Amino acid sequence: MAAPSNISANVIDRPSIFELVAAQSLDSTFYPAFKKIALYIGARNPEKFAVIVKYYDELFLILNGAVQQYYLRKYCSSISETFYGLGRYNLKTFRFGKRDFFVSFAFLVIVPYLFRKLESHMNRVKEKLQDELTIEDKYKVLGLYSYRVAKSTYEFTQIIKYITYLSNRSKTHNLPLFLSSISLKHGNPHQETFSFIDIIKGNVRLSTVLGTTILRTLEFGGFFLQFLQWYQGSSASQKIILQLPTPDPPTLDRNATKFSNICPICYQSFVIPTTLSTSGYTFCYKCITKHLNKKPYCPVTNLPAIIDDLVRIYDN
Ligand SMILES: [Zn+2]
Repeated sequence: MAAPSNISANVIDRPSIFELVAAQSLDSTFYPAFKKIALYIGARNPEKFAVIVKYYDELFLILNGAVQQYYLRKYCSSISETFYGLGRYNLKTFRFGKRDFFVSFAFLVIVPYLFRKLESHMNRVKEKLQDELTIEDKYKVLGLYSYRVAKSTYEFTQIIKYITYLSNRSKTHNLPLFLSSISLKHGNPHQETFSFIDIIKGNVRLSTVLGTTILRTLEFGGFFLQFLQWYQGSSASQKIILQLPTPDPPTLDRNATKFSNICPICYQSFVIPTTLSTSGYTFCYKCITKHLNKKPYCPVTNLPAIIDDLVRIYDN
């Protein structure tokens, strides 16, 4: 029995740590990306869509569950592993069985959900503890402390896993895969490939073409989001914004020179200088409020204006 398993183990094409980390980080892009979309929709129409923001974690659980179970069933790997051409296999059987499916599903969908819930609970506890501490809070502090220790230990173990995988001492590169005794290999035999000619000739079913197109869009979309997130976080984008030339200030019109340092209503020096934010002109506070109470526009430019558009200037 020992010989065949050794042969199988040698035949397996081992992915590089870069591919594995890339696939792992692609997986972690979907949650924040969809959250941004949910927050945007929620902010646009809070009455209708606030529920999306409130139950985002649960909605993502359903969505992620549906997508991952499809990929695990069809390609024996998660969505991002499929994108990087990786396939899962059991370290003992060298196959991807039912047990491997359920364990993978748990670590890809359910564990991250529970972890996020725990994390947000701990953040709430932390916020509450900012105030004065009571004796009962001591247990909460202890809980929070244990959670932090557990989290740091997990992160440290992750680094160890990377090192052991790199030095060929371990077959798995992260803790969830190690616990499920599942590893990843190159090449995904289940992935369907067809050329454009196959589609024209009708060698592939339309449903297959449509399904594959949707899934590829999702995978590439995820990859694109990952790139955007990196770009947003990198100093490169900030540098580009800083390098942009400062735009010229708007040119002054005839009235601006005419009313230089005097109130355009009473033609006197300003008493409590107040600017109308819609036009940029400055008046005495009394003059402009009197005017706006009668007419809702700027007396110089005729741009629409209300009392709320007034800004007091603190100029000595
Ligand atoms: Zn005035």
